[in-house]
Amino acid sequence: MPHTLTIHELTAKLAAKELTACETTRSCLDRITAVDSKLNAFVSYDAEDAIAQAEAADQALADGVCHKDKPLLGVPIAIKDVIAVKNQPLSCGSKILGDFNSPYEATVIRKLRDAGAIIFGRLNMDEFAMGSSTENSAFKPARNPWDTDRIPGGSSGGSAVAVAADESIASLGSDTGGSIRQPASLCGCVGLKPTYGRVSRFGLVAYASSLDQIGPLTKDTRDAATMLKIIGGHDMRDSTSVPREVPDYIEALDGDIKSLKIGLPKEYQMAGLDPEVKSSVDAAVLRIEELGAEVREISLPHTEYAIAAYYIIATAEASANLARFDGVRYGQRFGSADPIEMNRDTRGAGFGEEVKRRIILGTYVLSSGYYDAYYIRAQKVRTLIREDFLKAFEEVDIIASPTSPTAAFKIGEKVDDPLQMYLSDIYTISANLASICGISIPCGFTSGNLPIGLQLLGRPFGEEQLLSVAHAYEQATDWHTRRPTVN
Ligand code: GLN
Repeated sequence: MPHTLTIHELTAKLAAKELTACETTRSCLDRITAVDSKLNAFVSYDAEDAIAQAEAADQALADGVCHKDKPLLGVPIAIKDVIAVKNQPLSCGSKILGDFNSPYEATVIRKLRDAGAIIFGRLNMDEFAMGSSTENSAFKPARNPWDTDRIPGGSSGGSAVAVAADESIASLGSDTGGSIRQPASLCGCVGLKPTYGRVSRFGLVAYASSLDQIGPLTKDTRDAATMLKIIGGHDMRDSTSVPREVPDYIEALDGDIKSLKIGLPKEYQMAGLDPEVKSSVDAAVLRIEELGAEVREISLPHTEYAIAAYYIIATAEASANLARFDGVRYGQRFGSADPIEMNRDTRGAGFGEEVKRRIILGTYVLSSGYYDAYYIRAQKVRTLIREDFLKAFEEVDIIASPTSPTAAFKIGEKVDDPLQMYLSDIYTISANLASICGISIPCGFTSGNLPIGLQLLGRPFGEEQLLSVAHAYEQATDWHTRRPTVN
């Protein structure tokens, strides 16, 4: 069944002519037809366009183009609906954009296409990437393939579901405070948030520009390395992308982990951490220690301020970024010809509750009189959090923790309690504030058969070490090979 394959398994079969790109793409499309009405991973997809791309890939394979030159030739990859694909719908999980189609292509999409990928489908998400459960999608809540009464995490919920339920070979998501790692953890796949500046944000609809990064969700660590190698690198169109060479992440997978030191932050042993999650993560760290790494306790003293600082900085940036949705340039327009009324009515009708809450909060913390007390203060806390990490990374190479304090919760359980929802990001948010890299990999299951994720955090541009530890652990375990039965 081609749709169940990883990127490396699939490309080997395509190269050996055991499979075609068309068969693979059809297999993914059939899988979507079979299960997506239960999962809601996709907002939309264009089957004809996907098949046309697959035919072109098969032609290229027949012409002798090889995977050395185009590492993703014939591989279907689905995209979070916040990343621009030319001539395809771009909704950001919101009603406000109406039937807007993107007139241009994100840099990451161009790079994936250059590598031969088949770009298909728009993946469900929390509106404008604000949320941790995909319940804030203006269309429909995505569901966890391990238990369809539960959330898949968010905001890249659709991206995690599509991969975990084998509807796509891999996907792209975006991570502002955990939105790649947390859904990957709750759905049992691999999610990589690159260092800020590693991947171009050109064509990613901005939520909080100083925190946002695009990254891959995949079935294993090798696939994450393959994707990062392709999408990483400097881009003239994103001045925050860093002109730094992209290392060979695939080679890095087999890096020696025996000389590495792993840190366990003592502040992460907090109330709210589910005992089953804790014991799986403890066991995973022990396994990594047995593989030769040295484990020691570290301190990240400003951890308790991370959520507060994040929800000031992220909402402040969001309030500015989302000002562009004014009914004039994009999407839907409501109200009268009077521009002030039109603007008010369009935003009032177009944005959902959570987005409005954040715009109001962000506007408040930026308003004169409160700016110093909230925004500037949060920026200072951000610096302290970054310094905590940089200091810790003088002592250790990698920091290990749970990705999420609990496994997937029930749909509806936290939706009316935004603070509870915000707390579910406690382990992921700091990496964005500190601009470092992180990955979530499967490390166990609860007694109720829900996946648990191990988060590994690395130095700025330390993705090679991160991937080598993740890969070594994965080689020694089989959690990542388990798949849900969707029924
Ligand atoms: N859950 C966090 C938020 O709602 C993170 C979202 C994200 O990473 N896009 O802001």
